[in-house]
Amino acid sequence: MSSVVRSIAWLCGFALLACGGSGSDKRALVDSAEPAAATALPESSLIDSIVHRPGWWKPLLSVFGSEPDSVEDDEGDGEGHNSEGIPNYATREFSLEDSLILRRAYGIEDPHRLYVSDSTDNGVLLYDTEVKKCRRCIVNSYGVGFVSVRRWGESWEQVERRVKATRARWFTGAPHPMGYTTKELDPVIRAGVEQMLADAAKAGYKVRVIATYRSPQRQAYLMSLRGKERTHTLTSTHSYGRSVDVVIDDGNRARKKTKANWINFRIWLTKYRAPTGEMFHVLGAMDHTWDWPHVEVTTAKIGFRSIDEALERGRACLAPGSTTPCDFAPNLPTHLQP
Ligand SMILES: [Zn+2]
Repeated sequence: MSSVVRSIAWLCGFALLACGGSGSDKRALVDSAEPAAATALPESSLIDSIVHRPGWWKPLLSVFGSEPDSVEDDEGDGEGHNSEGIPNYATREFSLEDSLILRRAYGIEDPHRLYVSDSTDNGVLLYDTEVKKCRRCIVNSYGVGFVSVRRWGESWEQVERRVKATRARWFTGAPHPMGYTTKELDPVIRAGVEQMLADAAKAGYKVRVIATYRSPQRQAYLMSLRGKERTHTLTSTHSYGRSVDVVIDDGNRARKKTKANWINFRIWLTKYRAPTGEMFHVLGAMDHTWDWPHVEVTTAKIGFRSIDEALERGRACLAPGSTTPCDFAPNLPTHLQP
């Protein structure tokens, strides 16, 4: 029996699901489990009942004789990009239980589009809603476990469709959509950022902060601008008050001098360490990037460094009576808190 067929047999056996002929891959299997669950178990869904019980297959061992697919721990799989600039998506086998945990806790429809980004020094687990096929192809990517407008139970594919189908104005009107000063940063890093800006000025750089905090609603607004989308994600470290957008000199990189100063600032910044310990990261290469203004402060633990970390927290947050949130909560200054 193939592993996928065996998994379907397991799921059918456990939940008495009326399995059809679908399920040619794991994605179809996970997707198809949800509507059936809703009708069979109105109070708590099938997925709830499964992922709330680690080792749910054990009572059925005597019937089927073996466990569902086991997770192969494949070192290095799912990390960084290949030489063509394509993410090294996870290729390991995911057990049905793990697929359901990732779907329920983190909105992952297909775990084989997960990878740990190497765009900053301390990589973070991302999920692409489409496979990136070429270096210049742009796909939407989401930080797994990051706050966003994603609703409980929604997949990233679903929230993306919802946001794009919603008029942009529905994502406006929140009291604090954005911040433009260091006062809107996570209080833990504020002093370090301010010290960095002062030291940059001392080193001769004319740095101007143009944005700091950005709410998840604002992030959704930027994606919902039909035909004029300004972002390819609904998750951002700006929503944690842990990034600043800056410009150098007059901000016009078409000017040779501005661009040269900007590159020099990026080199200076990535070597800089604040007296309070903060380090700073920029996206892409020093002289070539899709996001010049973005500067990230990466001392805090936001997001996951591996799929196994996400599974561990997913298992914990979905457990009955758990007080562990699935997503990472921002640490925002009082005036930005709801
Ligand atoms: Zn930014």
